[in-house]
Amino acid sequence: MGEAKRIDGKAFAAALRGRLAVAAGDLKDRHDLTPGLAVVLVGDDPASQVYVRNKVAQCAEVGMESLEYRRPADISQGDLLTLVEGLNDRRDVHGILVQLPLPDQIDPAAVLAAIDPAKDVDGFHVINAGRLATGQDSLVPCTPAGCMLLIKDTLGGGLSGLDAVVVGRSNIVGKPMAQLLLRENCTVTVAHSRTRDLPAVCRRADILVAAVGRPHMIGADFVKPGATVIDVGINRVAAPDKGPGKTRLVGDVDYAAARPVAGAITPVPGGVGPMTIACLLRNTVIAACRQAGVAPPDV
Ligand code: NDP
Repeated sequence: MGEAKRIDGKAFAAALRGRLAVAAGDLKDRHDLTPGLAVVLVGDDPASQVYVRNKVAQCAEVGMESLEYRRPADISQGDLLTLVEGLNDRRDVHGILVQLPLPDQIDPAAVLAAIDPAKDVDGFHVINAGRLATGQDSLVPCTPAGCMLLIKDTLGGGLSGLDAVVVGRSNIVGKPMAQLLLRENCTVTVAHSRTRDLPAVCRRADILVAAVGRPHMIGADFVKPGATVIDVGINRVAAPDKGPGKTRLVGDVDYAAARPVAGAITPVPGGVGPMTIACLLRNTVIAACRQAGVAPPDV
């Protein structure tokens, strides 16, 4: 058996950003519309700071506005809600993202519920989750949206009737991923920590999406020959070969073991990860167009 195709999410995300830059330029020229993203960062979690910096930098790269709101870790829930409500009212802000996690005194559900669903570019609001589940236009969570773009690019239009298995049932990845696959007429199984004989369930999958958070859990014996394997997991593990105290990122899939069996597979890093921010920008463009009454570009 040959090696699976390596699905290059980094290159796909760069190409998507290129298309978004063209679309943003077109919106500016034809409609005097510049999509604007407001990013709210509470506290000083180093990982969150890196994510926010990347989001702001990539907005600039595609010609979109970004506004960054940094607030101290001891901000009250009331003050944070007031900030979100102010952003809801601003016409130049088309997307609002509150970086998670939030400090303990703040209920993340209350904050997410306060975001105008039309500006909910993370797609986490219950209105958007409900719209996705009932087949209506919605803002789709960025990571599963990015996975779906990679799956369609790999398999072309022919997803109808394929068996898809999603391992993980979180609200931000597993469940919306299952909805998107169902929308494409896949036969979808959602597996989780109580699933019996997970390898056998996974071996049924023409499309296998792993969103678990357990390094290298999915081995070769989970993969049907020729399957498309999408690894959402991002796990930091010790890398003694790189030196004492060093770490590296690995996925939920044992890439080296699964690649000889799969038909196509995403690496970690460089697979799903880069697609997430690109899809955030895409959602912001879509949200801006809908708010302005302009047809969203097909990107
Ligand atoms: P959650 O912790 O919210 O969900 C994990 C899911 O995996 C749960 O449904 C859980 O089942 C299931 N699970 C846990 N252990 C097992 C097991 N042994 N067998 C089968 N299922 C299991 O994680 P997220 O969905 O937020 O994230 C998943 C992974 O994706 C993480 O590594 C995260 O870092 C990564 N991620 C990557 C992103 C990207 O940009 N590429 C974005 C978001 C997440 P149960 O419900 O029964 O507990």
